[in-house]
Amino acid sequence: MMFVGTIGNDGQTPAKVQFSYAILNPSASFGGLYSPEILPKFDGNFFHEMTKKSYKELALEILKLFGVDIEMSVLKEALDLYDNFDDKSSPAPLVKVKSDLFVNELYHGPTRAFKDMALQPFGYILSHLAKKQNEKYLILAATSGDTGPATLDTFENKDNIKVVCLYPDGGTSDVQRLQMVTAEGKNLKVIGIKGNFDDAQSALKSLLASNSFKENLKKQNINLSAANSVNFGRIIFQIIYHVSSYVELLKQNALKNGEKFYITVPSGNFGNALGAYYAKKMGLPVEKILIASNINNILTELLTTGVYDISSKKLLQSTSPAMDILISSNVERVLFDKFGSERCKELMSELSLKKSYKLNKNELEALREDFDAVYSDDKFALKTIAKFAKNGYVLDPHTATCIKAYEEIKQKNIPCVICSTAEWTKFAPTMWNALQNDQKKYGDKEALENFSKSLHLQIPKCISSLFTKEIKHAVLVEKSEIEKTITDFLKG
Ligand SMILES: *Cc1c(COP(=O)(O)O)cnc(C)c1O
Repeated sequence: MMFVGTIGNDGQTPAKVQFSYAILNPSASFGGLYSPEILPKFDGNFFHEMTKKSYKELALEILKLFGVDIEMSVLKEALDLYDNFDDKSSPAPLVKVKSDLFVNELYHGPTRAFKDMALQPFGYILSHLAKKQNEKYLILAATSGDTGPATLDTFENKDNIKVVCLYPDGGTSDVQRLQMVTAEGKNLKVIGIKGNFDDAQSALKSLLASNSFKENLKKQNINLSAANSVNFGRIIFQIIYHVSSYVELLKQNALKNGEKFYITVPSGNFGNALGAYYAKKMGLPVEKILIASNINNILTELLTTGVYDISSKKLLQSTSPAMDILISSNVERVLFDKFGSERCKELMSELSLKKSYKLNKNELEALREDFDAVYSDDKFALKTIAKFAKNGYVLDPHTATCIKAYEEIKQKNIPCVICSTAEWTKFAPTMWNALQNDQKKYGDKEALENFSKSLHLQIPKCISSLFTKEIKHAVLVEKSEIEKTITDFLKG
């Protein structure tokens, strides 16, 4: 299967590329994103067949459907990394919470967020390609808190790879920050920036598209790629767990093959939701994809009014920091898929010039065939966390936003799967505030201990050990200093 750029071709980069090219060179013409030219389709019996298979076998079938140009042995080794998740036989367990509410727990990997589902195998494949081609790569990652740790983990001490991770200082939880600044690999560099996630991601995108930066790297024989969900290598692994949730519903007799279900996704950069969209287009029986956001409700606005307008919006901090985003990258891939590259180019250039665009009535209707959206505030999230915890189920603040969608915009009485994107341990002060119904400021360590004692939960060692680890990366820079800081790291 081939990949094409979302906003057409400039004649300088190839118009159609294979999977390996797209993941090594994620920036397509005019700064667009590589996207599937035509999606493969599941046949009617696929899901039933998969009830007899393991997660890894299902994943391999889907990768085969996409015809990725990576050797089968390498794909298998990449998928073997799921063996390191909490339950080897089920890296993404589907837990029934109510008769029509199921949670797809995607956070059982080494860094305790769903980013591991994609970054573990993706990192393995990218490292393999770099080594095989005997080329050096710089991998950039901009993070709102979870991509950073997952990227550092997957590339730690990998040959031919250096990683630079940009995080917004003050924009992540303490645990997330510690996961990054204590990273040990010699090939890793973590940079705090004075700005928010959108600033970090814009810096990343402009470096990816900058010819002078790339030429400088070329002089040192270094190529450039990215670990954010602008890279299709992440998206492909994010299709798989949505399919697996349906297969699990079949296994649990929650529905019959062919019957529809809802998928609810707490969304920021829209990579997780895009995976669900592609799965639906490939034939997964999804009634609708429900998008949950926080008070940075740009996605809810787009999917309910057709307007994407950030001209007068300011990024707000919430208790779900991984969703504190206004520029949601993967929306572009949906616009391309629905309306083609010319229209996508038009909309994206309006966004960069006027900081807004407006879909026409038909376009909005086309989006709403697949999506609906709702947002909630911190108060709702905290109340929901407390309510569910008291009934024996622990939701992190991101996953809690999904309950609003489940309660308010799910219309049919059919099963609803919500994607749980992080373990509570990454956001302990918020969790403890919710349980105590107070607004005091707790440290992460204290809150972790209190919450775990109160509900008799284990804290994984990878989290509890963070507080005594040595800080390796204390760098904090202005936005204008990012490029120089990276150049210095590469020289040193
Ligand atoms: C990254 C992240 C999200 C947002 O996912 P997108 O794919 O960027 O929409 C939601 N919750 C958590 C915990 C995350 O780490």
